[in-house]
Amino acid sequence: MDNIRFTDVVIVGGGPAGSVCGCLLKRAGVDCVIVDRATFPRDKICGGGLTYKAWRLLEQLVPDVRYDYRPVTHMHLQFDDDPASEFESEFELRMTRRKDFDYSLLCHYQQAADGEVIQDAFVSYETLEDGQLLLTFKSGLRIRCRYLVAADGAHSRVRRQMFGRSRDEAVLFLEQYTEPTGAHEIFAHFSRDYFPGCFYKFPGPGRDIWGYMGPVTDRESFQKLLQRYRVPAGRLVGGYIPMNVVESTNDHIIFIGDAGGFPNRITGEGLYDAFKTAENAKVAIVEGKPFRQTNREVYAKMRAQDRLLRFANTSFCRIIFRWVIRHPRISKALFDAKMKRETWLPR
Ligand SMILES: Cc1cc2nc3c(=O)[nH]c(=O)nc-3n(C[C@H](O)[C@H](O)[C@H](O)COP(=O)(O)OP(=O)(O)OC[C@H]3O[C@@H](n4cnc5c(N)ncnc54)[C@H](O)[C@@H]3O)c2cc1C
Repeated sequence: MDNIRFTDVVIVGGGPAGSVCGCLLKRAGVDCVIVDRATFPRDKICGGGLTYKAWRLLEQLVPDVRYDYRPVTHMHLQFDDDPASEFESEFELRMTRRKDFDYSLLCHYQQAADGEVIQDAFVSYETLEDGQLLLTFKSGLRIRCRYLVAADGAHSRVRRQMFGRSRDEAVLFLEQYTEPTGAHEIFAHFSRDYFPGCFYKFPGPGRDIWGYMGPVTDRESFQKLLQRYRVPAGRLVGGYIPMNVVESTNDHIIFIGDAGGFPNRITGEGLYDAFKTAENAKVAIVEGKPFRQTNREVYAKMRAQDRLLRFANTSFCRIIFRWVIRHPRISKALFDAKMKRETWLPR
């Protein structure tokens, strides 16, 4: 076992899930290191929207972190060509640019929490006789550790080693970025043609983000929508939202964020659960809680979202939703209720 480094916890992936987990573990006095294959600041295809519950949770977990964002409260929702609903939400959404946001979190882990980041790509793990893990990285680096926190995103290599590719179910979202139009609102358009999907515009810092997700997310449908809204032609990019939750089957490996398949099934929002599962992993490691039991409430929430998604696919749900969108006061009341509470669904 020459030239093998030892640390208590290795976090693979320095995105929001990994960085927040690193900050929490360091603050609890746990010896850990983040390994990420990218050179930061690195980009990530994402709307970059932090809902009220997401930025509030981040504030609770990492109170002194600072990042750039554009606050937005104005909502503009429409179903086909029906009259649109416009309202001011009581709850601020924060639009970030993921390249800068993720870098701010990682720098905070390095500077405020005195955390170490190694730039390398995770290749594989093996379980040793004493239950510890031996991780191998692309450069040849090997690290022995007690715990592996898999925070390596939608195409997690750790998950693939444990469960195989068959568990990689994901939904494609397409995006295009343009110069900011100055409209300080979130626009979401729904249609019989792509319900329960959505066409959206987010006013990100320094640019507008146009996005689309439909039952079949194809370039042609997205391009038609962009033309309809007279969006100048640009480069389309795509990113996957993982849809299958994986439960830890090993008490030395825990999945957090997209690696565990934790984004919201219905909205695609993933940052809230990236922070939440990062916190859960920290609690499990510090308190010695079995990983198999950790995130149970998140699994239950995701199963409930799956049921709601099945309901969303019915014409009855579409009719109700369409009716709600025509009524700004009802839309606002439901939107604010959703922002205020973590979820409508049982925990
Ligand atoms: C188009 C789109 C729009 C979205 N919009 C929103 C939104 O508006 N709001 C919201 O809340 N969520 C949104 N999401 C979801 C959100 O982007 C994710 O849920 C979030 O990025 C999850 O963070 P993470 O830290 O788990 O993973 P990531 O941010 O993907 O970080 C994973 C890290 O792991 C590293 N890595 C990967 N493989 C390896 C390896 N083998 N070795 C070492 N390092 C590795 C990567 O370099 C990366 O830095 C969107 C997603 C998409 C695709």
